[in-house]
Amino acid sequence: MNCKEIADLLDGYLDGELDPVTSQKVEQHLRDCGKCERTYEVQTAMVHAISQTAPYYKAPIELRERIQLSLREAIGATSTRGTSGEGPLLVRRPEAVRRGVFFEMPWNWLALAAAIVLTAIIASSLLPRLRQPGADQFLATQLIASHVRSLMASHLTDVASSDQHTVKPWLDAKLDFAPPVVDLTNEGFPLIGGRLDYLNNRSVAALIYQRRKHFINLFIWPAGPDTDKMPKTLTRDGYQLLHWDGSPFNYWAVSDVSEADLQAFKQAFEAQTAHR
Ligand SMILES: [Zn+2]
Repeated sequence: MNCKEIADLLDGYLDGELDPVTSQKVEQHLRDCGKCERTYEVQTAMVHAISQTAPYYKAPIELRERIQLSLREAIGATSTRGTSGEGPLLVRRPEAVRRGVFFEMPWNWLALAAAIVLTAIIASSLLPRLRQPGADQFLATQLIASHVRSLMASHLTDVASSDQHTVKPWLDAKLDFAPPVVDLTNEGFPLIGGRLDYLNNRSVAALIYQRRKHFINLFIWPAGPDTDKMPKTLTRDGYQLLHWDGSPFNYWAVSDVSEADLQAFKQAFEAQTAHR
């Protein structure tokens, strides 16, 4: 199995959807391939972070009862219109789901439910290709998680150096693109180092800069057709995010510095990379 196949299978593997033989092949590859293992670790950490922090709401009992009641009414209405005289065919509920959200349903309701599920599956597989606002929110969550993880797990850098001529070759060798690397010490943002990260379903470069006691993670990857050309600022959970499109690359800066500082950082970075 090669890295491309692993990338395609990783979501299924994380969700426990693969058959045992394929799972074993994935595991074998993860043991042998550091790059894919790192991707796997990042994805796992993200799944955990989301499952721990995302709000989870249980439907209130009154809502269940209302749905149950309206289903019963609908079934009653159908059965009086029925011509067989036997009423609708009811699905017997297994004991295991008796107390859950499953109810007695006639077959025509089941067909409707199946159609709704099918529509949802089709919609969810099409949605990522559309440029919906949720995509930015999801990316923002990944960016902040990555920034926080880099500060928490004492894994701020893979290559710790203030020398752009050390950081750049290191990143170039590890990535399938060559991100611009500049030191901004004179502008008040000394370069601390570089790191490989995994975001937006691809390997990306992370450059780490310092602003007084704060760190800025600058994530860089090649701009694609879906890259937003508009600069963008987001504030979430006390973090500033700043996006800009600097062809051929896509930039996201994440930090807890002020918005003004982050804008100053962007201008300094652009000024230093413009004449290269
Ligand atoms: Zn691999």
